[in-house]
Amino acid sequence: MPPGGGFGGPMRQGFMTEEEKNSQPKITGALLKRVFSYLAPYSRQLFLVLACILVSSVFSLLPSILTGKIIDEGLIRQDLKALITYIVLSLAVTLGANLIGVAESYINTWIAQHITFDMRNQMFSHMQKMSQRFFTTNNQGDIITRMTSDIDGVKQVITSTFTSILSNVITLIVALIAMFQKNWLVALIGIVIVPLFTLPTRHAGKTRWTLTREAQTCNDEINGILNETMSVSGQLLVKLFGKENYEFQRYQKANERMIKLNIRESMAGRWFRVVLSTFASIGPMLIYLAGGILMMKYDANLTVGDITVLVALLGKMYMPVNSLMNIQVDWIRSMALFTRIFEYFDMKVEIENPKNPVKPAGTGGEVDFEHVDFSYEKGKPILKDVSFSLKSGDSVAIVGPSGSGKSTIINLIPRLYDVDAGTVSFGGVDVRKLDLTFLRQHIGVVSQETYLFNGSIRDNLLYAKPDATEEEMVEACRKANIYDFIEKQETGLDTLVGNRGLKLSGGEKQRISIARVLLKNPALFIFDEATSALDSISESKIQEAIDPIINSRTSILIAHRLSTILAADEILVVKDGEIVERGQHKDLVKAGGVYTELYETQFHREEGQETGETDLEHQPLESEDALEYELSGQLPAEWNPVRHQPLE
Ligand code: ADP
Repeated sequence: MPPGGGFGGPMRQGFMTEEEKNSQPKITGALLKRVFSYLAPYSRQLFLVLACILVSSVFSLLPSILTGKIIDEGLIRQDLKALITYIVLSLAVTLGANLIGVAESYINTWIAQHITFDMRNQMFSHMQKMSQRFFTTNNQGDIITRMTSDIDGVKQVITSTFTSILSNVITLIVALIAMFQKNWLVALIGIVIVPLFTLPTRHAGKTRWTLTREAQTCNDEINGILNETMSVSGQLLVKLFGKENYEFQRYQKANERMIKLNIRESMAGRWFRVVLSTFASIGPMLIYLAGGILMMKYDANLTVGDITVLVALLGKMYMPVNSLMNIQVDWIRSMALFTRIFEYFDMKVEIENPKNPVKPAGTGGEVDFEHVDFSYEKGKPILKDVSFSLKSGDSVAIVGPSGSGKSTIINLIPRLYDVDAGTVSFGGVDVRKLDLTFLRQHIGVVSQETYLFNGSIRDNLLYAKPDATEEEMVEACRKANIYDFIEKQETGLDTLVGNRGLKLSGGEKQRISIARVLLKNPALFIFDEATSALDSISESKIQEAIDPIINSRTSILIAHRLSTILAADEILVVKDGEIVERGQHKDLVKAGGVYTELYETQFHREEGQETGETDLEHQPLESEDALEYELSGQLPAEWNPVRHQPLE
């Protein structure tokens, strides 16, 4: 026999692998306590539900018990009055049970909705505290599934799993008591069948559990594909790379797997039901037989009505037993759901507000980096011993090849990430000691990838300053050099920007985001200059908007254009995560280092030279010659990219 074999072995393994067994949640006291902590605020309503369930379970058994009276006292004694009384009573009790059932569902739904409401809100605010690292490493589809379907699942657990456990247990107990009161021997004979239910149940339960889990993973995958391909930028990528077929195949495959899983899931336990219903029909026959023998041979104190009641009550027991057996799966599934949700709740908030946050009265926006080391992933250092200071009112330009760590440096200032070693200070205080809201309130970032919300220009501006007046908005737009454009629009500030601002050009979006930052009026401005080639008009408009800010405000710029670089008070040259040179343009050019190389290869290139792989190559190209350069990698001799400020 193969190891782990035996009759059940290989078959069971076909349904549930070790890994899947391991993924079953451990149902511990702590988990239950935590689940019930969500119910606690609604204990009064829960108590009402419990009372309703109790009364309606008893009421729903009463007609079965009354059947005995109908037969014995009505039919056999031929007493019409008693017959009608018991019939009316029976009907009234049934109606009563149903009415209480309605009340119960209402209170139940109410509780479930409120609990999911609480959980959703808790999840949303928790998610907002998660670091950028969390959002860059986790699949968006997965996050959304947890926040939507998983929490919706909780509703299901409360409205059906919890209540059905309760009502089934109560029904069983009441039925058992009533049966044993009638005749303990017959009752006992009738219910010997019941334990046989447990045999196939365990197996079917496990199968369903595995399939449910698989279906959940498959569903996550489908959501992931939809999220990736049905987004604006995703579709763009699919179209431009002609990947429609590939994506379709991927989607179709996942869908097909889902179908198979769904069919298997709905068929799981079908055989089990056949066995159950066979067992179920044996019970009444045993009661008739045992009751009959007792009545006929032993002259026991049993009536026809009693036997009918016993059969009816036994019939009422099968359903609760059956669903309590199945509920094992629902229960495990519910606990898995809670475990998944709690997993998210328990994820450590990486960037937290300090215990005693420092909240200075004001700040000049000074920035100090002291021996900063940083890595996104352990063992892969990105920044190494970065130190620099930016005084209030000054500006620093960070230049360097793509991937050298420029954006990473600025990410550390508003604490999107925390340093591994060294300190980043803002206004002279370690950012980890500052109040997070204060810190972020005083920093304004214009990033390369401008994100505008789907709404009007006004909505997007008000996001920075909800109480901004019309004049303030116009002023900010003027300064950001976008007011001319807005004035030309029929609806002015109420012009809609489209999904993620896609109805606007790159330059317009950038200038709106500059206006947005101007409205915020932070102590420190951070510009991550766009590398994508904007047309020269948009570019100069942006430059005109930025220049006065650089000259008058504390600012850090990731610069790709020489004109911007020249506007800064100090230039930091970053290479492979280190600041390799710093100073003024004229000194750096002469120094003969990385900057000189960048400068010579990028701005003073001789005809015939190869381009290096740096961001600085993304110079806006205007003439046909320049276009040729982009295609061939050769720079035309007469092309001078510096337009805004003269070179020395
Ligand atoms: P730059 O702004 O100079 O182009 P970045 O600061 O964006 O460079 O990136 C520096 C390095 O860090 C690159 O090698 C990049 O691949 C890596 N990096 C950037 N963001 C992340 C991230 N969220 N997770 C892991 N690595 C990252």
